[in-house]
Amino acid sequence: MSRRAVAVRIEGIVQGVGFRPFVYGLATRLGLAGLVGNDERGVFIEVEGGSAPVEEFLAALTGDPPPLAVIERITTGPAPVTGRRTFAIAPSAAGGDRHALVSPDVATCDACLRDLTDPADRRCGYAFTNCTGCGPRFTIVRDVPYDRANTTMAGFLMCADCAREYHDPGDRRFHAQPVCCPACGPSLRFHGPGGSGAAGDPLEPAVRLLREGGVLAVKGLGGYHLAALAADEPAVAALRSRKHREDKPFAVMASDVAAARRLCVVDRAEERLLTGPARPVVLLRRLPDASVAPSVAPSVAPGNRWLGVLLPYTPLHHLLLRALGHPIVLTSGNVSDEPIAYRDEDALERLGGIADAFLTHDRPIHIRTDDSVVRVFRGRDLPIRRSRGYVPHPLPLARAARRPVLACGAELKHTFCLVKDDRAFVSHHIGDLENYETLRSFTEGVDHFRRLFDITPEVVAHDLHPDYLSTKWALDQDADLVGVQHHHAHIASCLADNGVAGPVAGVAFDGLGYGSDGTLWGGEFLVADLAGFERAGHLAPVPMPGGATAIRQPWRMAAAYLDLAYDGDVPEDLDVVRRNAGQWAAVVALARRGVNAPLTSSMGRLFDAVAAVAGVRDAITYEGQAAVEFEQLADPAVDDAYPCGLVSAGTRFAVPGVELVRAVADDLRAGVPREVVAARFHNAVARVVADGCTLVRKACGLSTVALSGGVFQNLLLLGRAVTLLEERGFTVLTHHRVPPNDGGVSLGQAAVAAAMAANSPIRGVRRELSQARHTWFGGMSETGT
Ligand SMILES: [Zn+2]
Ligand SMILES: [Zn+2]
Repeated sequence: MSRRAVAVRIEGIVQGVGFRPFVYGLATRLGLAGLVGNDERGVFIEVEGGSAPVEEFLAALTGDPPPLAVIERITTGPAPVTGRRTFAIAPSAAGGDRHALVSPDVATCDACLRDLTDPADRRCGYAFTNCTGCGPRFTIVRDVPYDRANTTMAGFLMCADCAREYHDPGDRRFHAQPVCCPACGPSLRFHGPGGSGAAGDPLEPAVRLLREGGVLAVKGLGGYHLAALAADEPAVAALRSRKHREDKPFAVMASDVAAARRLCVVDRAEERLLTGPARPVVLLRRLPDASVAPSVAPSVAPGNRWLGVLLPYTPLHHLLLRALGHPIVLTSGNVSDEPIAYRDEDALERLGGIADAFLTHDRPIHIRTDDSVVRVFRGRDLPIRRSRGYVPHPLPLARAARRPVLACGAELKHTFCLVKDDRAFVSHHIGDLENYETLRSFTEGVDHFRRLFDITPEVVAHDLHPDYLSTKWALDQDADLVGVQHHHAHIASCLADNGVAGPVAGVAFDGLGYGSDGTLWGGEFLVADLAGFERAGHLAPVPMPGGATAIRQPWRMAAAYLDLAYDGDVPEDLDVVRRNAGQWAAVVALARRGVNAPLTSSMGRLFDAVAAVAGVRDAITYEGQAAVEFEQLADPAVDDAYPCGLVSAGTRFAVPGVELVRAVADDLRAGVPREVVAARFHNAVARVVADGCTLVRKACGLSTVALSGGVFQNLLLLGRAVTLLEERGFTVLTHHRVPPNDGGVSLGQAAVAAAMAANSPIRGVRRELSQARHTWFGGMSETGT
């Protein structure tokens, strides 16, 4: 029989995911000889044997890789036949996998779950069970190369049994850096009224406390959570008041998909997300009677048709949920909007006033990482927050950056992004960059990512807003600076998310972003590619009476809009006027004078105004609350829309938002139900999106649309807009890897900076943009610098 030898190289996420044992097992099963090893580029293989088994080997490599492996590229070539008879795992080349990609944290795999529940297994009931296919990764890595000494497992010396598994290429735990067992690994502890460090299983007093209505702090993968029995209204209400969280919904952890289905509708795509290795919080439609069913207390997600649900992702969660038998609220361990606590002493101090007891352990968390949040839109992921389980998996860029880039992000829902070659490493969720604590998370995070991925940025990209802490920090860096307009960054983020370079008609609708002209933008139609943009149209600007106060008090936006809509003669029978009669005149005066009333073209503020007019709420306690509740109010069966003609404004078009506010107010005065009004408004905005893009297409022939910005987290609006655009023959790009909100801005900034640093490929595109300049959008050409 003729022998054949083949050399194989595999690139992607192929280290720390059990790839070498997989290759070893496959080759030995097929009776092949050779070797497999890691180096700085990924995995290399030499395989030798009969032609047929070699073919089978090659097919199985790509057909059935380990679940966590992501193969980006595979190349094969002939190798000399040596006549060797065994297959071996080669030692790593010196410095070889120093910068191998670090995997995200991975939910407990099925095999480990079996160990966890098998009375004969030495890891039965052990809260830190893991293997090459699952367990902590990103949150425990302190430095590279990724081996145990550089993780927070360094302090735990492997016992003989664990060491044997660790060194056995045939074992599922071969080179699993966090491998451990009850004899040698971390252990649980209970601190609480029942005594700290009491004898017996720490789970028992924890479960008892939850059953009795207590609030329990639980140390997880990326930080501490606060837990309470989801069905226990007094417990959940107590958690809410102690945490100073007034209305923002809590997430619920259910033991499995069946338990999730007792609370919510779970379709196939949602089930895939719930049970996948990343285990994000998935926003699910509640069953109609879930709010009255005994399983979820009203305070969990007040007045919300959606519920954030996640399944257990660590052995500790599995053990806790099993012992308890009921879903729990599981929310970030923090007070109000502070960052989640992750260091033990800090957690004890900060959460001491919230939690009745602590279920903790002695495996340190190196980097704070919040739960990710995802919803499903038309069968695909629509990330709301990309963090644990996804980070630091790199996103591929359509075009490689010639120089390494650091993008500093925006302010709210902050992330940063580092780029080297064609890989973009978007950070975990840092939080709202408004205080020292989050600023420190940001700068420490940048240092950590630089070390982990060996990136020394030469280009630093930042928002144009002069007051953002991220901008101020960027301006202090010794690097080439690229200022990227906020909404251009949103559209570039959507382009990068979809792996395309543009140009496109970009629709960026959000709360606020600093415009190139110094006013506050947020309802923008851009003709954009990665390297530049032109403002093609926008929502007609209105004053924001009181500045930032108008964000917290949507009725102020209602006052500004209504004053314009009715030409200073606002009908006094409108509820919103009556409710705010005391301050109405003063706020209108503020808007008219334009003092402390900056102009904004923000779509988020228009939603706020209309929500207030419709009586949804006059003041908010979390970002986007009025719009979220207004979306839920809408009757999805209503198809008609308020008319809203786009008007030419110089070389651009403007969207007269006042017409929509007027139509809403008139309908309400005529007694039209609010559910119908809300739907008509959503439909009108969707039509505005389609009409604006149609104008852009007429002017410059672009038939691809990118939708981005936090407003497009609104599924009703997003769905209707996409449908209309597709009916008109557009190709529509939406987000599925990074959030449409400001959490995705850093990726967009990075993509812009990378494209500008490598400017030559963009030439052809610029010509198309300059054609546009002669027709509709003749005014400004903005490159973001
Ligand atoms: Zn496992
Ligand atoms: Zn052990």
